[in-house]
Amino acid sequence: MLKPLLHSLVPEELEDAVAAVGQPAWRGRQVRDWLHRHPVRDWAAMSNVPGPLRHALAEKYDLWGLVPTERQVSRDGTRKFLFTLRDGATVESVIIPMNDHTTFCISSQVGCAMACRFCATARGGLVRNLEPGEIVQQVLHLLADLQDEPMAGMGDRQPNVVFMGMGEPLDNFPAVERSILIMQHEAGLGISRRRIRISTSGPEEGLEMLLGSDLQVGLTLSIGGSDDQERRRIMPVPGRTTLARAADLAAEYAARVRRRTTIAWVMIEGRTDEPEQARRIAALVAGRPFKVNLIPLNPLDDDKLASPPFQKILAFQSILKDAGVDTFIRASGGQDIAAACGQLRRRRLTAGPGK
Ligand code: SAH
Repeated sequence: MLKPLLHSLVPEELEDAVAAVGQPAWRGRQVRDWLHRHPVRDWAAMSNVPGPLRHALAEKYDLWGLVPTERQVSRDGTRKFLFTLRDGATVESVIIPMNDHTTFCISSQVGCAMACRFCATARGGLVRNLEPGEIVQQVLHLLADLQDEPMAGMGDRQPNVVFMGMGEPLDNFPAVERSILIMQHEAGLGISRRRIRISTSGPEEGLEMLLGSDLQVGLTLSIGGSDDQERRRIMPVPGRTTLARAADLAAEYAARVRRRTTIAWVMIEGRTDEPEQARRIAALVAGRPFKVNLIPLNPLDDDKLASPPFQKILAFQSILKDAGVDTFIRASGGQDIAAACGQLRRRRLTAGPGK
């Protein structure tokens, strides 16, 4: 059994954990700073924390859980990371340069149970949930990477953090929620709620948990199909939730956080690029607090699915725009380094050890 990571505790719990081994509150704050302000990866580096306290904590908690195993930099500046966790499982994170800031794309699970046809992560099924600290540490590692090697023109604006890496975040909601509370906490990473976004394939139980929580983050709903039958074919597990139900819950959430939900539509040639699909999406979205992102498929190497010609994507966008729906085409970064969700890990798994 792995010990929990100390980074899985929200700041208040961290102070309690330090108090529980008989130390005053200010010691708790000292430890907290070593986790979030000047993150250290071994106990000995907490130079002003007395040895007995470090040992007492180390008996119950692990300090660092990610071994950076691969780092690739794309021609467009996208940086892709593969981490090996304490049990040997692997997850990916990505830094994507935007115009004036960076977006961190992070993972919430090892593998995924949703079985979406176009997604590399889905291929191996779900291995396990990440614990909160393993999610937080992805962000910490990416921040450290940027500090070591800044990206030109990014200034010091906080990154955006999106749960668009491996896994279905609403299938691991308690850990995702906790990791977000730690990211948002001013004694944690201090990242504003406007900068954090959950992307979900929309399983009903997960959307209900999100609605029942106090979380305030952006939401993206990946719908996969323009009607229920189509959606079930492309996204078998989340497809058990009807589009109408998923859209209702997403609209309710958007109203609560006063921020539009993004509807994500992956564009696959001959499957999800037909005008009638665009019209059905327009009908689903019209009059609701939604906008639409069209994401050209990042093809899997072993697959026959392809991205449509750009003209076809533009035509699809026009139908939505003409229906009054704000619709954007998202460029997908890092094509040359297998940056789509789960692709780097998959290449490693299929290449076998030592490659
Ligand atoms: N499970 C969550 C988050 C991970 S997937 C979700 O479904 O939203 C993040 C986004 O990447 C989703 O919108 C998904 O549809 C998209 N995606 C997955 N594989 C892709 C691929 N090969 N090409 C383009 N987009 C992909």
